[in-house]
Amino acid sequence: MNRITFNSPYAIFEKCDCNMQVPIAGMKVKKEKEGYLLSYTAKCAACGKEIAQSLHITEEIQDFADHINAFKILPALKDELAVVKLDTVKGKVREGDIFLYGNYQHLRFFDNKIQDDILVIDYSKS
Ligand SMILES: [Zn+2]
Repeated sequence: MNRITFNSPYAIFEKCDCNMQVPIAGMKVKKEKEGYLLSYTAKCAACGKEIAQSLHITEEIQDFADHINAFKILPALKDELAVVKLDTVKGKVREGDIFLYGNYQHLRFFDNKIQDDILVIDYSKS
């Protein structure tokens, strides 16, 4: 495995310092002693900044939401889409593999309770 690519319905963005979001289609993967190193580069279309980031994925859960936004795009009725923003963007090594997920809190309409779900961020390997 050299690379992971994010597929529909998930969309991943790096938050640029200029407040734009830059889409991240995939990340390079390198095996490390403690887990994996994910790295990616992107160029901000608004300010031109070259972004270079790397994430260490280990057995310990880490939250990358300070600089990454993750969205799940759901088909809705007719011509509409519903977009869910994950509150957290977390990664860890699980069973030797890269496990990416996020928390998503939403209001249940039928009883007005806040429900906390975990959404697994799917990716494909190449
Ligand atoms: Zn920018």
